[in-house]
Amino acid sequence: MPQTTSQTEFALPVIELQAPPRRAIMELNSDELTAWLASFGQPRFRAGQIRRWLVQRRIQSFDQMTDLPAELRTQLAKEFRFSPFEIMRHQISKDETEKLLLRLQDGELVECVLMRDPGRRTVCISTQVGCAMGCVFCASGLLGVIRNLTPTEIIEQVLVLHRMMKDDERITNVVVMGIGEPLANYRGLMDSLTFLTAKDGFGLGARRITVSTVGLPDRIRELARSGQQYNLAVSLHAPNDALRTEIVPVNRSIGIQEILLAADDYFEMTGRRISYEYVLMSGINDQPQHAEELASLLRGRNAHVNLIPMNGVSELVMTAPRDPDTQQFLEILELRGITATVRKRKGADIDAACGQLRLNREHDRSGGSVPS
Ligand code: SAH
Repeated sequence: MPQTTSQTEFALPVIELQAPPRRAIMELNSDELTAWLASFGQPRFRAGQIRRWLVQRRIQSFDQMTDLPAELRTQLAKEFRFSPFEIMRHQISKDETEKLLLRLQDGELVECVLMRDPGRRTVCISTQVGCAMGCVFCASGLLGVIRNLTPTEIIEQVLVLHRMMKDDERITNVVVMGIGEPLANYRGLMDSLTFLTAKDGFGLGARRITVSTVGLPDRIRELARSGQQYNLAVSLHAPNDALRTEIVPVNRSIGIQEILLAADDYFEMTGRRISYEYVLMSGINDQPQHAEELASLLRGRNAHVNLIPMNGVSELVMTAPRDPDTQQFLEILELRGITATVRKRKGADIDAACGQLRLNREHDRSGGSVPS
């Protein structure tokens, strides 16, 4: 026996011997599911039955798949997890916004939100654990990025919320505005959107899906070439490069003009009007000269500006704009012929701004002092 064996060398084989965590049933593609069923002498059509339960119905366990033989349900429960998530926290706000903090199989956390408006049910989903973009006002990026979410993990956020809704409610819109930069997880994003829009998937129209990006020009064009009419929202936040680079550090190597040109191409190719998101921060980017500059940047473009009063994040010094400043900003844009709206706050009492729950929980874990 070697004298210098370290503890780590001993520890490794032990970890490898541990049973791998059970796969979530949604992680199996239809060939894998059919093959698994065949090994129990079950016909191929069972795969379709299982998928319908998982995608369209509102059940919480294999046991409720009542058109499957009882033994098959037991076998499914033995071999697979019903969902790839554990719900760590479920909050319901006064305005009926619901927010979930989800624990993934490797222990990482993500969030998703359901927002209710008359005739509209919008789900906001995450695409990464954390974010690498480092926007200075955003809770999601404070701890960097850990990994991309898998397509199943992205899709399941929609399905988990769908299963929680009342029988007469259905999801009408999806916004990819949760934790992460969706275009930095391009494959994961596209695979999940393909499923969400497929007739034999979740069946949502592409025009009901909005992808929000910090502005990665090549990927914006790639998304346009996908031939789908997804809506594109570009997080601009500043009307000139000097200020934008301070607020959105990745801007340094990209630049506003490149982003606007890519967004113009997106509009040309898809016919979808671009939304520009602009988080207003008091004294930083919310003054009349910023509004004037933004208006000249967007003049002649088919664009809509979403003004978002910053949601406070306790770790950060930036604060929400004063109401009169927001109002004045909006008026200047309108006066210059730029259509704009101030986004309504939803779920303010449950910290619904993206990344806040995960951040608080990570602080709790590491002994930090942020209340959750
Ligand atoms: N990475 C993508 C999508 C995630 S952020 C993007 O940058 O667009 C989604 C939206 O939430 C962005 O417009 C972002 O600017 C906004 N956001 C992030 N933190 C916020 C905060 N504290 N207050 C208000 N909006 C915020």
